[in-house]
Amino acid sequence: NSVLGIVGGGQLGRMSAIAAARLGFRAHILTSQADGPAAQVAHAVTVGAYDDHDALRRFANAVDVVTFEFENISADGLDLLSSLRPVHPSGRILRISQDRIAEKTFLQDAGIPIAPFHLVENEADLQVAATRLGYPFILKTTRLGYDGKGQARIHAPEDLSAAFSRLAPHPLVAEGMVDFACEVSVMVARNATGGTVTFDTTENRHRNGILDLSLAPARISDGLAQRARELAGEIARALDLTGIMGVEMFVDRDGDLLVNEIAPRPHNSGHWTMNACPVDQFEMHVRAVTGLPLPPATRHSDAVMKNLIGPDDMALWPRIMAAPGLLAHHYGKAEARPGRKMGHVNVLFPYGGLPGEFGVEAALGPLATPADGADGD
Ligand code: ATP
Ligand code: MG
Ligand code: MG
Repeated sequence: NSVLGIVGGGQLGRMSAIAAARLGFRAHILTSQADGPAAQVAHAVTVGAYDDHDALRRFANAVDVVTFEFENISADGLDLLSSLRPVHPSGRILRISQDRIAEKTFLQDAGIPIAPFHLVENEADLQVAATRLGYPFILKTTRLGYDGKGQARIHAPEDLSAAFSRLAPHPLVAEGMVDFACEVSVMVARNATGGTVTFDTTENRHRNGILDLSLAPARISDGLAQRARELAGEIARALDLTGIMGVEMFVDRDGDLLVNEIAPRPHNSGHWTMNACPVDQFEMHVRAVTGLPLPPATRHSDAVMKNLIGPDDMALWPRIMAAPGLLAHHYGKAEARPGRKMGHVNVLFPYGGLPGEFGVEAALGPLATPADGADGD
């Protein structure tokens, strides 16, 4: 049976490897963590750094097709992999998603609505951006940001200089602050023959910059949810995507969609599909990159996904295991550091039966969010 190579050893690699195994593939993981989430469930090739060319060569030679769960491999490393095996999604797509300026420029050129942005290479650029965008606005590193790390909200001119210094390395990108009504995302999968499917639009809530809760379907109008899926499909086609991609969007106060960022891999906001869909995002991903047909991305239930973050949430694991209706996924990470994604829980509701806020909280049982102020920050 053929071998799927996955670059990156985190939970997305773990869940992709499990889906691959279910379809009869073997998975090889290129990872810096010998006992990380993915290495625990598949064959691991361990590396000190993801641009160790000898390791990349060994890895590529042992697999049939290469995909990613870790996006920050060097351009050289990508070229090397691409010279040895088919790489899906392509190196070009990865490069676009690695750099917020390249990403925003691509989206803008493709006619996709996004918030206004400016490249900031020095403090003079930052002054110009502030004047054009007005306060408040957001300053982000162009590379390597995740979970809201590598960004600052700028409220007044006196914040500019400190934020600029703190967010090294430069350049940075300044973004207009979107006064959003809610955040949504769409998982879109596309295979080499251009077959494209989208899962239902998901509503996302963050806490301390980290995704906390996803609701499926999003509580927005059918028309808007449909438009979000169309936008994701347009981006996938414009990128000539083979694989799966998460597209994060804002719904602004006028009810318009603005794309925030893209992630050409399985995405945290798609984890609800693992229990609410006959074919989940990980199987869809494996099918897309291995050239299999893509079945419809249908959903048989409404769902809520709650992330398990850090030691506080993991202290609840025994209660989660004992709670009926909590469908739990553990990532196998040894140490529950604060802010670290340790697992997630899905709760299902009948199709069309997603309850209101109180119903969702009640269904989460031991994971119900403490009242404001009671969570220690
Ligand atoms: P991720 O973990 O999703 O990769 P990230 O570090 O790449 O996160 P973003 O997704 O760009 O960062 O931003 C994190 C969150 O910050 C967003 O989900 C949103 O809540 C908020 N945010 C980011 N950009 C803006 C903006 N322009 N206007 C308003 N809120 C924003
Ligand atoms: Mg991001
Ligand atoms: Mg994001």
